[in-house]
Amino acid sequence: MAYYRTTLIYTARKDCRYDRNIVDTQAFYRIKMRKESKISKSVIFVGYACNNHCRFCMEQDKRSMPVRPTHEIKKEIFAAKKRGTVYLELIGGETTMRPDFPDIVGFAKKIGFHTIMIATNGRMFSYKSVAKKLVEAGLNSVVFSIHGHKPEIHDYLTQAPGSFEQLKKGLTNLQEIIKRKQINFHFGSNTTIVKQNYRYLPQIGKFILNHGIVDSEFIFVDCNEGGAKRYFEELVPKISEAAPYIRKCLDLGGKKDVLHWDIRYVPLCHFPDYLNRISELHETKTFNTEHIAQDFVDFDALESRKKWARKKTLRCGGCALYNACEGIWVEYLKHYGDQELSPVKKISVEQKKMLDAYNTNRKHER
Ligand code: SF4
Repeated sequence: MAYYRTTLIYTARKDCRYDRNIVDTQAFYRIKMRKESKISKSVIFVGYACNNHCRFCMEQDKRSMPVRPTHEIKKEIFAAKKRGTVYLELIGGETTMRPDFPDIVGFAKKIGFHTIMIATNGRMFSYKSVAKKLVEAGLNSVVFSIHGHKPEIHDYLTQAPGSFEQLKKGLTNLQEIIKRKQINFHFGSNTTIVKQNYRYLPQIGKFILNHGIVDSEFIFVDCNEGGAKRYFEELVPKISEAAPYIRKCLDLGGKKDVLHWDIRYVPLCHFPDYLNRISELHETKTFNTEHIAQDFVDFDALESRKKWARKKTLRCGGCALYNACEGIWVEYLKHYGDQELSPVKKISVEQKKMLDAYNTNRKHER
């Protein structure tokens, strides 16, 4: 899942870096997380190994980092619970590749997390026994990475032949298990937007809906790190070219029963009529999010992204959406400049209502 990570920031800003050994003693952040009326969410990275090789992956340079021992991950989960976190997200790499993963999920359930969510490429769920074990251990929320509506696109991007068919089988397996067990379970999806798939976003959206997922995010590729930074020209589309297709895809979110259908990491001037579908606006009003990995710790991940990873420019002066907008990726500006940013002169009553709705009107907390 394309959350912003702060590894890059650490090299540039020492004051954003927290020593891993003081996780338990960050009293300031503990207090902060308790006093605000937001959901406290811990995103714990269980390791960077993966069975896909996505061309745009942010973690491409970290694949060979050592496997983290089980006890270390459990210790972090326990510390997060002690800090008052109720929402746990486990990510990688690919979480489900770890043989000890059901044990880790079971531990999180035992100590009282009410949401245990993973982001996954879904391939391991194509083995029914793996899917069943994880559900029985306490997993109750899964977000599948779906980068195409057909293997020619998805497998090209994952560089793993057969990954699309395994993902589909994994999703079906999990849906069957949940239906049989009749338990509450949340299904979601993420789609990373790159040059190879942006023209197909409406078809990808339909594919997702046809497979029973009504909680989806479409994520403009993070090009500050990893594959998308290295292969920028090959992978990163211009926002002005991708935006019409993104808007068409977002229109599908108006269908009945769709819970959450958002775009992430785009400049708002390309989406003035979709202000109720901007993921990070929802996120910053709903969550306090911390990121804990083997190579970095960031207790205020959303603020770090806003401050250092995305930028607005002088062209944004006077924009009516300035305060709501995070701008665009720093690396994007280095390659394409800011000519596509276009200040919004005034927002209508309807647009104001859309922004206000983030406080009151969301059907689902992801
Ligand atoms: S002009 Fe700048 S501040 Fe305004 S919406 Fe575009 S990127 Fe955001």
